[in-house]
Amino acid sequence: MTAAGFVPPVLPRDDVALMEGYHSPQVDVAVRLNTNEAPVPPPPGFREALAQELADLDWHRYPDRAALELRTAIGELHGVGPEQVFAANGSNEVLQTLCLTYGGAGRTVAVFEPTYALHAHIARITGTRVATGERTADFALDLTEVRRVLAESAPSITYLCSPNNPTGMVETEETVREVLDLVPGLLVVDEAYGQFAPWSALDLVTDDRPLVVTRTFSKTWSMAAARLGYLVGPPWLVAELDKVVLPYHLDAAKQAAGRIALRFRAEMDARVAELVEERGRLEAALADLDVDVWPSGANFVLIRPRRVEGGEVWQALLDRSVLIRDFSSMPRLEGCLRVTIGTRAEDDRFLAALSEVLA
Ligand code: PMP
Repeated sequence: MTAAGFVPPVLPRDDVALMEGYHSPQVDVAVRLNTNEAPVPPPPGFREALAQELADLDWHRYPDRAALELRTAIGELHGVGPEQVFAANGSNEVLQTLCLTYGGAGRTVAVFEPTYALHAHIARITGTRVATGERTADFALDLTEVRRVLAESAPSITYLCSPNNPTGMVETEETVREVLDLVPGLLVVDEAYGQFAPWSALDLVTDDRPLVVTRTFSKTWSMAAARLGYLVGPPWLVAELDKVVLPYHLDAAKQAAGRIALRFRAEMDARVAELVEERGRLEAALADLDVDVWPSGANFVLIRPRRVEGGEVWQALLDRSVLIRDFSSMPRLEGCLRVTIGTRAEDDRFLAALSEVLA
């Protein structure tokens, strides 16, 4: 805390001084459904295998700078070689490295709002201009608007987010292909929630298309604590990112955690299936309440209470020790709240609290 009127002796860049940081309150509550994490920890076998590897780790040595084993294992998951995989500290760092490499001064990133706030934020942090396109009132992508934004701003990076955060909506393959044909630069499809969706743009990645798909270990792989994300893209692009990212950016413990997690694919697939089923149950229950619900392809659902103000509902849920994400005062998302799919017991508690609040 600094005293009122205090002027720091050193000032940041003018644009940084004007920025708001990224805010997502972490409050101690009984039911935490606000940050789209997995509701359960990794399988017990993961902890045991990781503990063993950590016991043998050469802590005095730098890690494998290329994280080759990890990249190979991720590549195997998607049927590509390690030269098509770039991994970093959360998919946020992947996005940052993309902006540092293909954005920057004099360049533009295009986003279509409402979408994941960090796409624009990271662009600005890296000195990249942001061109903002609007989605329709029901949050769908409008190709006429896409054409307008791309023609006016000639972005070097265009973002799609599918499933989109915070709406949960999935872009169709046809839409992604059309946008890919239109972009003058790189198309980034952020699939942080891709495993919960019916299709993936990963199949569209080839050596000669300017397309990358980003993924994360934070959701499906129950590893938000580890901060590990990656992209799959053409080898020439991965080679450029490798030049830009800091040397040894992925520590040895994280590389081990990522590799070991990938041995538990069957368990993870089963969990995704369970969460998708639970999402259906939650959506069905929400349909009986006095809220608008957007169909979701992710591990969360966006709702808008019809008769009570969103912020009031959020606070009343918090008073009942249920934390969800409040978007109600954000432009374009007025009145909206986002709830992460939790365990059945957590979701029941959320539903009971919501019914009470809306009654
Ligand atoms: N993309 C989207 C759409 C997200 O919602 C998130 C997490 N909130 C991320 C990327 C970043 O995930 P992480 O850095 O944990 O991999």
